[in-house]
Amino acid sequence: MSLLTPPSEVQEIASRLRKAGFEAWCVGGAVRDALLGHAHLDWDLATSATPQEVMKTFRRTVPVGLAFGTVGVLDKNGRLHEVTTFRHDVKTDGRHAVVEFGASLDEDLARRDFTINAIAYNPHTGELADPFGGRKDLRAGFVRCVGDAEERMREDRLRALRALRFAARFGFTIHPLTWKAIVSSAPHLTRLSAERVKQEIEKTMEQVARPSAAFGKWRESGAMRVLVPSLDAAPAERFAALDHLPLPAGKRAGERKLLRIAMLFFGDDRRAAEQALRALRFSNHDITWTARLADARARLGAQVDAAMARAGGPTDAELRRWAAEVGRTAAGPWWRLNCALWSARERAQWGAREQGRVYRRLVRIAYRDPIEIGDLAVDGEDLVAAGVPKGPELGATLKRLLDVVIEDPARNVREALLEAARTAK
Ligand code: ATP
Ligand code: MG
Repeated sequence: MSLLTPPSEVQEIASRLRKAGFEAWCVGGAVRDALLGHAHLDWDLATSATPQEVMKTFRRTVPVGLAFGTVGVLDKNGRLHEVTTFRHDVKTDGRHAVVEFGASLDEDLARRDFTINAIAYNPHTGELADPFGGRKDLRAGFVRCVGDAEERMREDRLRALRALRFAARFGFTIHPLTWKAIVSSAPHLTRLSAERVKQEIEKTMEQVARPSAAFGKWRESGAMRVLVPSLDAAPAERFAALDHLPLPAGKRAGERKLLRIAMLFFGDDRRAAEQALRALRFSNHDITWTARLADARARLGAQVDAAMARAGGPTDAELRRWAAEVGRTAAGPWWRLNCALWSARERAQWGAREQGRVYRRLVRIAYRDPIEIGDLAVDGEDLVAAGVPKGPELGATLKRLLDVVIEDPARNVREALLEAARTAK
């Protein structure tokens, strides 16, 4: 139970509130995670003080979300901690809630989504407030709505997706009544904004070691058909492959998250991937990158699988061709996606060592060998000077020369290329 110790800055904020005559409790994810034995960085506080009273109690505050009762309190290191007034929802329409302050702790816990998220910890007394049996569900491994599941899902449809994420993240079972409510929520998920759906997909990729469990339930419940129709019938191996891509962490977290998102579309043609990602409001950069990886699998997948199955694996010329098609910077990530797919197949025909060896060859080749027109030992001007007419023929000749050097990089020599350009005319 030692993890149930908020950082000293959080304890100080709680103690200041107490001395000013208010209640202050740690709530939400941090308490849940501590009870599960996981560390958690963000310790949220709930208090009986109104936002105005919180702002009066502390010198440095930020109005994070006053309408919802949330004030950010800055500690001495300039780190922001969220302090939210006890509240209850007075009106909900499946998307937004109108809240009212002046609630008790129990009322505040009652409006939370799942029992495991509705436990509060008093850092001063060490008391746990757990009116809905959250600890019992943590022990039994249940995600269960607080109160009537159907009603709670009607209030906020996002809860359906949150349940699937928490269940996958902790390896929990969804309580049967909660599951039933998720299934009946599915047709109504159209009410969620694309941004919130995107955020759930991203959080799932960021937090869940085995996202296949979450997205499997997105499909089983009918949520996927409504939210990302093109993925409803996508091959199951793509989802299984997600579990073979590392959990985003550290410096490269953003990149790893995007790689997992690309796995969802891996094998879709460019247009299909772009369309789905645009509907989810991904940035243009992310759409282009992801669709390119997906599309390259659609075009080259069969070739790549066949080459890997061959004794000796792919030739250097094949690796250069693939790197040229996928692009220099995308070749490595693209290979990782292929590897994840193979790892997910029941009888992987080739092992991780072989996959890794080819990865290193591919990346070395992508950065060392000529695979782009800009890498050629001649440019357009050289060809014009050698008598190639300007216009489409010039582009076609450059492309042909690139094919020549992709087959044999030793031929990427000025004289040899000019000769090849002349003779082919
Ligand atoms: P995470 O580790 O993903 O941050 P969390 O439980 O802290 O998990 P948050 O989204 O940060 O999740 O929300 C904090 C708390 O607010 C939750 O634990 C829950 O008590 C409450 N909460 C959040 N979203 C909802 C919602 N849609 N409906 C009801 N309660 C919610
Ligand atoms: Mg949180």
